[in-house]
Amino acid sequence: MADLPSDESGDARAELRAVVGQLRTNLTQRARSGLARVSVDLTTRPAGERKAAPVPARAGAASVARPVAQAAPTPAAVAAAPVVEVVAAPDKPRTGGAGLKLLRDDIGDCKRCKLAPSRTNLVYGVGNPDADLVFVGEAPGADEDAQGEPFVGKAGQLLTKMIEAMGYSRSDVYICNVLKCRPPGNRNPEPDEVASCEPFLKRQLAAIRPRMIVALGKFAAQCLLRDDTPITRMRGSLRSYEGIPLMPTLHPAYLLRDPSKKKLAWEDLKAVNAALARVGIHPPRTPAP
Ligand code: URA
Repeated sequence: MADLPSDESGDARAELRAVVGQLRTNLTQRARSGLARVSVDLTTRPAGERKAAPVPARAGAASVARPVAQAAPTPAAVAAAPVVEVVAAPDKPRTGGAGLKLLRDDIGDCKRCKLAPSRTNLVYGVGNPDADLVFVGEAPGADEDAQGEPFVGKAGQLLTKMIEAMGYSRSDVYICNVLKCRPPGNRNPEPDEVASCEPFLKRQLAAIRPRMIVALGKFAAQCLLRDDTPITRMRGSLRSYEGIPLMPTLHPAYLLRDPSKKKLAWEDLKAVNAALARVGIHPPRTPAP
């Protein structure tokens, strides 16, 4: 644009800015409304490390959501094609069970925040340290605090059914929370508690390096995505957490309060299975229809 007279150059820049703005708004609205399919590159692990990952890894690609250029698509191709692609982060070393054990030792008898004195048990996480699928909740409740295991109360029983309906068992996946200790009376987590505890969640996810994260409820989704969009708007669209696809969905405790919303959560979990299936990852058992 340097060869244009300055007023024309200014006009051209303004026009370009307007077009880019419209494109961005359009893509965002289409992705949010579900009109656009979100395609996710799930190849975040070294080839051969997992059961089946036919899509080649793209080492060195940046972890960004970006529009995909399409050349003269047919209407059918337009309907089937992704408009947003989450590109995999560079492969990072994963440490699995050994990493989780090291982290648990680092956490120790944690007294880093004000929740420590009132807890019975620190609730670290449970399941398969090499899981493809990780579920992240908010914080332990009374049952979890008593037993030292996440999602074992009423909401946990519903989560177990949801996991089983997807074709997995609790021991196939990994389950953890943002906070490892119960907030008294199940109050909401407070910022200083999150600041103390979230680094442990990040290290858990880095150790497992799953192919997909399901964020259960507003708190987990907003925390991991640094996005304060209400969960009712965020749910159902795949996002990216450090290059790992993340599906925000409704918390099982919310579903217990409003069972009419269970079908929405089930749609989200079916979309998770479908996204994993696109890269050759299937649950060990047949999912519910
Ligand atoms: N709700 C959560 O978010 N986590 C649990 O572990 C139990 C209930």
